[in-house]
Amino acid sequence: MFDNQIIERFKQIETPFYYYDLNLLNRTLATVKRLADSYNFHVHYAMKANSNDQLLKVISSYGFGADCVSGGEVLKALETGFDRKHIVFAGVGKSDKEMINALEKDIFCFNCESTQEIEVLNELAKKIDKTAFIAVRINPNVEANTHKYIATGKDENKFGINRIELDAIVDLVKKSSHIRLIGIHFHIGSQIQNLDNFKNLCTRINEIQDWFESKGIPLTEINVGGGLGINYQEPDKEEITDFENYFGIFHQHLQVKPHQRVHFELGRSIVAQCGSLISKVLYIKKGVNKQFAILDAGMNILIRPALYQAYHKIENITSNSSETATYEVVGPICESADFFGKDVSLPITQRGDLIAVRSAGAYGEVMMSLYNLKEQAKSVF
Ligand SMILES: *Cc1c(COP(=O)(O)O)cnc(C)c1O
Repeated sequence: MFDNQIIERFKQIETPFYYYDLNLLNRTLATVKRLADSYNFHVHYAMKANSNDQLLKVISSYGFGADCVSGGEVLKALETGFDRKHIVFAGVGKSDKEMINALEKDIFCFNCESTQEIEVLNELAKKIDKTAFIAVRINPNVEANTHKYIATGKDENKFGINRIELDAIVDLVKKSSHIRLIGIHFHIGSQIQNLDNFKNLCTRINEIQDWFESKGIPLTEINVGGGLGINYQEPDKEEITDFENYFGIFHQHLQVKPHQRVHFELGRSIVAQCGSLISKVLYIKKGVNKQFAILDAGMNILIRPALYQAYHKIENITSNSSETATYEVVGPICESADFFGKDVSLPITQRGDLIAVRSAGAYGEVMMSLYNLKEQAKSVF
């Protein structure tokens, strides 16, 4: 992945930093664009995966829409070249201020997640004389087979509107003068690798569509969310994830009517593999029956292992040793959850070596925190 030239360049840069391979990002985006266009699917980039300005500008240049989960993301999307007509705004807890701002910007669609949210949005739109176009986010109760913190489409999750509430939603929308219901929205979770879960989602969407039709409500927009997983184990073997089979599943199993458009919200699968966290080994420390490699980056810079027990491939990119040893690779933060990997086999590792934590382009830099007031990581392209 990293040739000598780039490693020499890394040695000149203050660590820790996020390194983004824009060539890989472009190849990924071109693949997504080609496949989505072939099925006439509309792709929105889920900005929360990585909202680095430089990446956003590259992504928006392909003509994708933006999936936002806050007012800040809506504004950032507009600043970085996304078209307001292709901005969707989701989230279980949109504040009044965020909704008013989005109404004033005339975004494409609000993905609404509760009856009360629709009531409030109607009131706000009325006050400023706007119409809110909405899709209702429905919780389809579909398994995602992923870490429980990133599963979002089961009954026990806070996301989406429950099927038992759908009748009430229909009545509410009918009497809401400033709401126009145009679609339905789903998002069942993240890092989903078993495509059968998406097939099951299609089946549920088809049933739900029929239900809306039986109520005499025409829907033009079907938004199936995101969640496609990537290969964290072997990033170099699968730099670009299997978008072909993913889109194919929806093409095959989703019943789309001639007047309908299908939308996707992809985050991780677009940006994860193009990013690596580059960090320096500060110390090697002996423990009881183990040894620690202590890095200058920790959970303050990349929280996924601590938060989701997530696996990231860890490489020593500067060691010349042909011998290997086992390390617990940890950060400098005062928390025992602050580790990147246990039982990591690396070439003999020393103070000053550079470590790459791979597949860190999604949910990495965006979750960086000020915890312990350690310095923030910069981004390098
Ligand atoms: C997070 C999120 C996405 C993107 O999920 P990925 O797994 O990164 O593709 C899409 N839609 C909504 C509503 C989300 O919250």
